[in-house]
Amino acid sequence: MRSVLVTGGAGYIGSHTCLEMARSGIDVVVVDNLCNSRMEAVRRVEGISGKGITFYRADICDEAAMERIFERHEFSSVVHFAGLKAVGESVAKPLEYFHNNITGTVVLLRAMLRHEVRNMVFSSSATVYGDPQTVPVREDFPLSVVNPYGRTKLVIEDMMRDLHRSDDRWNIMLLRYFNPVGAHESGQIGEDPEGVPCNLMPYITKVALGSLPELKIFGGDYPTRDGTGVRDYIHVVDLAVGHLAALRKLEENPGCVAYNLGTGRGCSVLEMVNAMSRACGRAIPYSIVDRRPGDAAEVWCDPSRAMMDLGWKAERDLDAMCADAWRWQQKNPDGYPKD
Ligand code: NAD
Ligand code: UDP
Repeated sequence: MRSVLVTGGAGYIGSHTCLEMARSGIDVVVVDNLCNSRMEAVRRVEGISGKGITFYRADICDEAAMERIFERHEFSSVVHFAGLKAVGESVAKPLEYFHNNITGTVVLLRAMLRHEVRNMVFSSSATVYGDPQTVPVREDFPLSVVNPYGRTKLVIEDMMRDLHRSDDRWNIMLLRYFNPVGAHESGQIGEDPEGVPCNLMPYITKVALGSLPELKIFGGDYPTRDGTGVRDYIHVVDLAVGHLAALRKLEENPGCVAYNLGTGRGCSVLEMVNAMSRACGRAIPYSIVDRRPGDAAEVWCDPSRAMMDLGWKAERDLDAMCADAWRWQQKNPDGYPKD
């Protein structure tokens, strides 16, 4: 099999996907500037899989560096994770997000075009649905944005649709992730956010560990079954396996198609707190505070298109997500060792 380039392969979802790819016999080449990740993640993926990974520390916005990488390898496809992803930061620094995510993708696509690599799997997000009118969310729902991070995802999706319209030899899987959580069952790779986590799951595991005093639940008065926000949490290993299914699909020349990758089940914040308490065997202290501006009450998906076209569905339940996140957190209380 030819090589696959993985941008952002040292990151949270990228490292889990590299592991599944390496285990399935794919020759994995990673490009990552390590702006939000550690080289140690790639080393651990090599350790777990027993396979070597070619790693380039480079910025995808650097045209010359990207050209050198494409000259050295013959890629069959690209899996594109590299991007900045913090919603709050994107509001404060929109230009940084537009440059890194959008310009970076243009540079990448131009290198692909020059080298006639026309197969792409792209990390999109449920954020492209904005605040959906109803649930479950289907791929044909209207798209909109509520912050600059979301805008980068929607612009990139639109760019890729235009690219496919310009030349139907392009094949692009737009994977719209719902809420990725958990870690590989080995406890060796997982999510390692800088500073105080903004997302629910890494925040809860820090509370369970005792490094944060309590969880603040953003809103207890949503029109949901227990008043707290509902999301579609998906185990990161299921998500990684979804990328393998998408890579296989590219071989059929499917064109440019969007897929929801979620479980199809909604889980409230309180249900997540209870599941994590079961996993770690201790109570998670919490208090209910004001809603977080911009949060939707309920976002979960209909994943049936992915099942039908890709033969993929999420297998791991909420207890597995919590048990695996907790194992990672316990084994690595401070995340990866600093390089
Ligand atoms: P992450 O930050 O852990 O991984 C992103 C990786 O890209 C990091 O290793 C970072 O160093 C690298 N990177 C960023 N900009 C780069 C650049 N210009 N050049 C080279 N490398 C660069 O994030 P993640 O959670 O693994 O997310 C991966 C992708 O999935 C992102 O595009 C993100 O927007 C998308 N996504 C994530 C979530 C989520 O909740 N984690 C949800 C939906 C979509
Ligand atoms: N949430 C919370 N406290 C936190 C972080 C998140 O109550 O410290 C809630 C949030 O309001 C939402 C859910 O948990 O209902 C998931 O939030 P997250 O930021 O993880 O994902 P997203 O908002 O992107 O779906």
